[in-house]
Order: sequence, then structure tokens, then C-alpha cells
Amino acid sequence: MTVRWAHSARIGEKFNSILAANPSQFVRIMNRAVFLDRDGTLIVEKNYLHRPEEVEIFPGAGPALKRLVNAGFKLIIVTNQSGIGRGYYTLADAERVNNRVCADLARDGVRFEKTYIAPEAPDQPSRGRKPSPQFLFDARDEFDLNLAGSFMVGDKLIDLECGWNAGVKKSILVRTGYGAEEEKLSPTAITSAVAVNNLAEMAEWVLNCQ
Ligand SMILES: [Mg+2]
Repeated sequence: MTVRWAHSARIGEKFNSILAANPSQFVRIMNRAVFLDRDGTLIVEKNYLHRPEEVEIFPGAGPALKRLVNAGFKLIIVTNQSGIGRGYYTLADAERVNNRVCADLARDGVRFEKTYIAPEAPDQPSRGRKPSPQFLFDARDEFDLNLAGSFMVGDKLIDLECGWNAGVKKSILVRTGYGAEEEKLSPTAITSAVAVNNLAEMAEWVLNCQ
């Protein structure tokens, strides 16, 4: 028993010395995120949605996301809004919709760290439009995230690819929005992902994947 205690004390000392030498390394290990697509994932997909009053949060989304917050995950929205680049609505319109999404989910105690928007149309040069992993890298640097312990959730193949490109632990397809259709269209492409019916199942899967 004495030997065992001495051994664990030595491990404790070693851990403390590593932590003291490089505290930022410790933070990086601790911060994990769930990145979420917006349309078709958090809210009902409506073609080129740009009116806050038309925001419709999926049933059960709030409590599901709250479970992740309680478990220490940071929540970050990553959304392609090509309607801006196409001239259908403005960046300010998209931000008003985002604010509505955040306000509605805040009622369930859900807080998002940040929303990243790619405003370009598909044929325009873009720094962060999914499947680019750029916004996940930006978030990693801004919030000290460990991407290898993080998750990407969305209803399209480009969402899954964005996660894979960033090196997340798992990309998760939700069968809401275009999800069920995408699963049928690209069964081989999504074999590396997990497919779930909704955000409640997503949260359950993430929490069981510790
Ligand atoms: Mg979507």
C-alpha cells in the first residue's frame, strides 16, 4: 500500500511539473467543441431563409445542446450563406437570423461561443466556405480547442467533409434537413461518418463517445 501511494505521488509530481512548464498545453487538452451547421441542423431548412420570424428550431434541440454544454463542450455554429453572395439578402439579414437562433436556444440555457458565416456563392473565392476547414482552424486558435476531441454536425456531405478536413474526432450527419437525402445519394462517401436522426441522438452519441 505504501509502495502504491509512493508511486502515485510520483506520478502526481510529474503531472504538476508538466502542467507548470506548459499550462497552455493543458487548456488545449481540455477544450472540446461541437461545431454545428445551422440550416437543416439547428433549424428547419427553408430555402435562403433571411427573416428572423421564420426561424423554427428543431424540437428537442435546446435540451440536447444543453447536455453538451453541461458536459463542458463549447458550441460553435459554422454556416454557408450563399444567398448573400448571390444577392438574395445581406450579411446583416443573416446575422439577424443567427441572433434569433441564439436567443431562442438561450431559453434552454444554450450558449454559442461564436457563429462563423461564409457569405460567398459557390463560384466565388472564399476563405471559409465549407467544406473548407478554415473556420474550425480559426476557432481552434481563438478558443484553444483540441480539434481531435471535437465533433462536426451537419445535414450535408460538405459539413462532414469540413470536419474531416479539420481532423475532428467524428463528423456526424443528422437526417434532418437534407440529411436523409444525402445519406441515400452518397452512402459510400459518408461511411466514415455517424448518421443519427436528430440532435437528441447526436448529443447522446457524443456523450457516449468519451
Ligand atoms: Mg445545412
